[in-house]
Amino acid sequence: MRISILLGLITAVAVAQAPALRITFTPESPQFEAAASEYAELWTREGERIVNAMESVSGLKFDGNEVKAIVFEGTSESGFRERPMRLRASYPPDTKKATLIHELGHRLESDIFRKGDDHAYLLLWIYDVWVKLYGRQFADDQVAVEKARGRMYPAAWEAAMALTAEQRASKWRETVAARK
Ligand SMILES: [Zn+2]
Repeated sequence: MRISILLGLITAVAVAQAPALRITFTPESPQFEAAASEYAELWTREGERIVNAMESVSGLKFDGNEVKAIVFEGTSESGFRERPMRLRASYPPDTKKATLIHELGHRLESDIFRKGDDHAYLLLWIYDVWVKLYGRQFADDQVAVEKARGRMYPAAWEAAMALTAEQRASKWRETVAARK
């Protein structure tokens, strides 16, 4: 028992080495080990590209601190600094990618938006990160996935998608300039 838990942790840590930003994916319990490995492999394979795309579209830089992510079955959330990110285990592969990028996006902009719901700002640039990395079809599919979650998502996505890419980008730049 103890050895298998230890091996699970070693595996989770060992495969999660993306060059640009280190993320450790830890299963909340053994039933989520496979999902944690999927996230870790995704990050090893694409982490550098993802970080580059997020930094170039947002104009912000990750602070380089390691991110801890717990893989579990529940609502995903970004966490903040040392407070771990939480990622749903059961998403299909594309939604694992999209959600990891979404939650990292909250962290990347967290120095600018410390209070309240920052989705209105996040959605000014995260769609364009998805497009840059995986194309418009992927991005449109993941908008539909997020809108289906209800809560603030349908209205926030409709507001963001009512703008052109250029309008989103300029609104984002103005917001950052006003808040920095
Ligand atoms: Zn969010």
